[in-house]
Amino acid sequence: MSRIARNLQAVIDNIVASEHEAGRAAGSVQLLAVSKTFGAECVLEAVQGGQLAFGENYLQEGLDKIRALSSATPTPDQALEWHFIGPIQSNKTRPIAENFDWVHTVEREKIAQRLSDQRPDGLPPLNICLQVNISGEASKSGATPEEIGALAHAVAGLPRLRLRGLMAIPEPEDDFDKQRAAFARVRTLYDTLRAQGLALDTLSMGMSGDMRAAILEGATIVRVGSAIFGARTYPSKESQ
Ligand SMILES: *Cc1c(COP(=O)(O)O)cnc(C)c1O
Repeated sequence: MSRIARNLQAVIDNIVASEHEAGRAAGSVQLLAVSKTFGAECVLEAVQGGQLAFGENYLQEGLDKIRALSSATPTPDQALEWHFIGPIQSNKTRPIAENFDWVHTVEREKIAQRLSDQRPDGLPPLNICLQVNISGEASKSGATPEEIGALAHAVAGLPRLRLRGLMAIPEPEDDFDKQRAAFARVRTLYDTLRAQGLALDTLSMGMSGDMRAAILEGATIVRVGSAIFGARTYPSKESQ
């Protein structure tokens, strides 16, 4: 078994343990393998370990891997699933709408409108998570908790999108209770939107360093990079 396949199995074991600790059903948390800065050969090792869903932050790098791996599935009836999880420039929405299955980082209605307009008719609606800025730093991406309600209702009405839920990247935090508190705030927003009638099913939160806290607070997708692929030792050439 390759190093990546071994790491992948260890992450899956941790997810199962956290699901159990949280009293949640086995399989209620989906693992998104974040492959940014790692080449298609690394993604292929994860595919051979059984992983099908991958997250990419940089558009050109992601498109290159989608193309390189277009026929790389363990069995013919399976497909890889590609999630865009990086910042979105408004002039780069078309290739995202045409090539990805999910986008986790929608923070403005204008971007959502473009993604809906540009989603090809032959593809299913694009799955969308709204990124919420829970830590309140001016530099961070994401809509504010105050903005998220109006944004969610607007996005839910766009024809070629399917609003699935919220995504958050809280400030890095070593203290477990503080990790949980940040994720609990995202969960509260999510519950509020659902109580308003939005049919949401996805909380995208938790990374290599804080996924246990996220799962205990209800994450349904954890986005895990370094725990699977190793430390990112070189910066991505962002050829966007
Ligand atoms: C890089 C990245 C991750 C994965 O982070 P790790 O700490 O390597 O697990 C998850 N989500 C987003 C949005 C990222 O950019």
